[in-house]
Amino acid sequence: AKLRGRNRSHYFSPDMADALYRKMTLRHHLSLALEAESFELYYQPIVDLKHGKLKGFEALIRWHDEVLGQISPSEFIPLAEETGQIVPLGRWIMKTACKQLAKWRKRYPELPPYIMSVNLSRAQLQSSLAPTIESILRRYCIPPAQLAIELTESAMLQEFDDAKQCLEDLASLGLELYLDDFGTGYSSLSQLQDLPISTVKLDKSFVQGEHKSSQAIVEATQAICEKLGLKVVAEGVETLEQLHYLQRNHFDYCQGYYLGRPMPAAILEERQFQLLNS
Ligand code: C2E
Ligand code: CA
Ligand code: CA
Ligand code: CA
Repeated sequence: AKLRGRNRSHYFSPDMADALYRKMTLRHHLSLALEAESFELYYQPIVDLKHGKLKGFEALIRWHDEVLGQISPSEFIPLAEETGQIVPLGRWIMKTACKQLAKWRKRYPELPPYIMSVNLSRAQLQSSLAPTIESILRRYCIPPAQLAIELTESAMLQEFDDAKQCLEDLASLGLELYLDDFGTGYSSLSQLQDLPISTVKLDKSFVQGEHKSSQAIVEATQAICEKLGLKVVAEGVETLEQLHYLQRNHFDYCQGYYLGRPMPAAILEERQFQLLNS
């Protein structure tokens, strides 16, 4: 389908047609998947470096579609955000993560109070969110301190006042707020101070040294967060060298393939929640 106009920028290329077709297909399958609940959550360890033990997990969604195969959340989460499907999907994610944590608490009462960390999208920051989460926590008898919410900087800064109210409601439930992908957005540090954030997750691009100034940013982030009384999680730790570097720089928490990939609940159970590289 070529709709060649006078202006070259209106040229509708086969690539664009493919992309649009892919999007429409995904959208359709996404609504079917929502009904069939054909999603799964994986859990990636977050490690307490100072004590060499597990701090908790980040829940990460996986979608295997019978027809389309495995689809990355980086592709379908933005789409679900566009269509609003993220609201029911997000509710399913929150419920499933809490249900899993409740199961573990019951089956392994000797385990420490691991923190379950759940990603939220901007569209989920509605006034109904806090009451929804509160009732999920109550239903599964989960102490609010064992739940954390991850949000990106850009999500917090859009319509700042509304977002702020919602985040304050969440914080007053007693759960922790993590600022995700730190360093990639545009927040000012004063705004961060204005929000009830407990923890900053430093984006993996800095940990992996993709930028020339990565090292300076890693070290400055740690220093500022320490002064502000914020905890820091370094994301994307893939090598022992990176781990040692973060240890030397007094990072509290780390997450990455080197310490553990996102995995199904059953695998974590099989490993008895032991860290492979401790
Ligand atoms: P994110 O929240 O920044 O999640 C971290 C991503 O980095 C995950 O990708 C994780 O698998 C990956 N990762 C972890 N360790 C390493 C590492 O050492 N190296 C590298 N290269 N990558 C690592 P994933 O699972 O594909 O998710 C991508 C993004 O999709 C997430 O980024 C998040 O923005 C979104 N997402 C995933 N699950 C959910 C969800 O349940 N709800 C919402 N709203 N968004 C989600
Ligand atoms: Ca995250
Ligand atoms: Ca992140
Ligand atoms: Ca990200």
